[in-house]
Amino acid sequence: MDMAVDVSVIRQHLIDPEICIRCNTCEATCPVNAITHDDRNYVVRADVCNGCMACISPCPTGSIDNWRTMPMARAYSIEEQLTWDELPAELTPEQLEAEGVGAPQEALLQVPAAPPQPATAPGETAFNSAQYGATVPPWSAAHAYTNLHPPKNPTTATVVGNFNCTEAGYENQTHHIVLDFGAMPFPVLEGQSIGIIPPGTDANGKAHFARQYSIASPRNGERPGYNNISLTVKRVLEDHQGKPVRGVASNYVCDLKVGDKVQVIGPFGSSFLMPNHPKSHIVMICTGTGSAPMRAMTEWRRRLRKSGKFEGGKLMLFFGARTQQELPYFGPLQTLPKDFIDINFAFSRTQGQPKRYVQDLMRERAADLAELLKDGQTHFYVCGLKSMEEGVVLALRDVATEAGLDWDQVGMGLKREGRLHLETY
Ligand SMILES: Cc1cc2nc3c(=O)[nH]c(=O)nc-3n(C[C@H](O)[C@H](O)[C@H](O)COP(=O)(O)OP(=O)(O)OC[C@H]3O[C@@H](n4cnc5c(N)ncnc54)[C@H](O)[C@@H]3O)c2cc1C
Ligand code: SF4
Ligand code: SF4
Repeated sequence: MDMAVDVSVIRQHLIDPEICIRCNTCEATCPVNAITHDDRNYVVRADVCNGCMACISPCPTGSIDNWRTMPMARAYSIEEQLTWDELPAELTPEQLEAEGVGAPQEALLQVPAAPPQPATAPGETAFNSAQYGATVPPWSAAHAYTNLHPPKNPTTATVVGNFNCTEAGYENQTHHIVLDFGAMPFPVLEGQSIGIIPPGTDANGKAHFARQYSIASPRNGERPGYNNISLTVKRVLEDHQGKPVRGVASNYVCDLKVGDKVQVIGPFGSSFLMPNHPKSHIVMICTGTGSAPMRAMTEWRRRLRKSGKFEGGKLMLFFGARTQQELPYFGPLQTLPKDFIDINFAFSRTQGQPKRYVQDLMRERAADLAELLKDGQTHFYVCGLKSMEEGVVLALRDVATEAGLDWDQVGMGLKREGRLHLETY
């Protein structure tokens, strides 16, 4: 070991709070859990980040790619980073010298070694579903434009439609919103998302940050040939623990009227994209508003099928909600031909019925899923609440194992080939 290396200086990895859209991609990607967040900021632990760069390319905004030369002893703590509205400037050579570390040379800068992974109980293996999520798109995906309208320079869209797409009269409403961009370029693909900036300020007087919403319409528009997109937005009236709250952006969006103007950023996302080659299969597993990208992909395939020029593979959908009344698009889904899409519903709170989750349905359909897992043309998409992700990937693992497949090989193959996509929030 070269004892001359000055380990007291690091290139500290930081996230720019001004352009970060709080999409959680980096936190889900980081292999050593160096990234964390609160209600406002995403931050990096200086003593944990080992500079592996795994989080850099998946970040849709580039806000993750910020580095500052810092004396290790002065590294910004996560508590400090959580209060930031903007990144601090680089320390000047004079400031560094005043810290007693001298002007740093690039070659001497160190990042801390990764700490050991969290220990597991003897005989128990930790299951990290995120490690199987692809960060590359399928080989036949179309080119996705990203960040054309960045957080510092949003564009304006006009609301041209807004209706409740869950059963009327129930509290847990989800709205189908249509936004029109007029002559402003806003090219999108199924699986991408946009950010909406709610007007006004938060309790601390700071401008609200953008919330992300998946695009629910296909690439050629909610209405074919129009420069518009649709969203599927759940009105948040209670937090994840069931405590009453009034979600800022979701209520703003659900209350929008036709003709209202909205501040939009994006599009975002360059890997959760659908395959475009003939006979490619798509397995979609979602809960609640996680159905938005699935609606987009299904509708694009439906339009292609109608044109008669595209030979699609299988489409299989596993869709979960608390009740049928809360399931977005329940009615329209019923009208899709059975030879076009294989739909499986799971309801976890239907009175008098046992709780059923999407992973239960997947196990019931193990024989069909095993065939699809063996087929290199199959692409899996998982979207919805964070709490579903592990159970779904575990179900895939069990299906593979019971079919005599080596899950680690299959799972890593799916990741490498951009065939297993996880987007949970
Ligand atoms: C990649 C990505 C795609 C997304 N796509 C969609 C989408 O298509 N449709 C959609 O409706 N949402 C989607 N979301 C979630 C969305 O961005 C917002 O987080 C959500 O609308 C809540 O924002 P809010 O401003 O209303 O609530 P906030 O004011 O930010 O939060 C209020 C409270 O509610 C809790 N909370 C936040 N979200 C939820 C939730 N979904 N359910 C229950 N409690 C919650 C918060 O923890 C907080 O305590 C997506 C998020 C990501 C990261
Ligand atoms: S560079 Fe690597 S270790 Fe650091 S935050 Fe990104 S993914 Fe995690
Ligand atoms: S925008 Fe980039 S830095 Fe911000 S949460 Fe998403 S991936 Fe992380």
